[in-house]
Amino acid sequence: MKVVSSDIVISAVKPEQYPDTNLPEFALAGRSNVGKSSFINKMLNRKGLARISSKPGKTQTLNFYLINEILHFVDVPGYGYAKVSKKEREAWGKMIETYLTSREQLRAVLLIVDLRHPPTSDDIMMYNFLKHYDIPCIVIATKADKISKSKWQKHLKVTTETLDLDQKDTIILFSSETGKGKDEAWTAIENYMV
Ligand code: GDP
Repeated sequence: MKVVSSDIVISAVKPEQYPDTNLPEFALAGRSNVGKSSFINKMLNRKGLARISSKPGKTQTLNFYLINEILHFVDVPGYGYAKVSKKEREAWGKMIETYLTSREQLRAVLLIVDLRHPPTSDDIMMYNFLKHYDIPCIVIATKADKISKSKWQKHLKVTTETLDLDQKDTIILFSSETGKGKDEAWTAIENYMV
């Protein structure tokens, strides 16, 4: 998809603040610092729209981006940041859970993982949560530019196996540095829009 317009429309913490439209939504989840903001910016051809965080774990809102007036990306705060309190973590969990389990417009979650390493226990927990609620998932294995091409398939296999990826779900090799996987990611998203 060719992105001609994109803008953040609301930062929400509760359902009353979600945009009042029926446009399809795609949530983006991943642990802090995995490269989620960079992914969003690359997908939208925008340099600084999603904040590339120097303070991981700080965004505690659901950020809705309207794209081409036809769909929303919903940026979910990154998980697994050690320095947040138990109370903050619980509030985070509730907000995400409410959104993911009750939002009818949600079509799929893009789960951003680091291709270089096996998915973390938090990644696995998030994926299992999605499968428990039958939410389709597109796994984005990012930072591909940081490992040699000859190792890509091996790392994809480890990611797929560690998550015990459902056959219905897609995994895409990505790099925000080079733009690799961008067209494939858009195609995967568009497949959930029809
Ligand atoms: P977030 O916390 O998940 O939003 O992560 P960011 O997008 O802020 O990225 C964290 C760090 O990883 C930043 O220094 C980025 O420049 C870097 N980064 C993100 N994606 C890539 C990528 O695909 N390749 C490389 N080489 N670096 C990346």
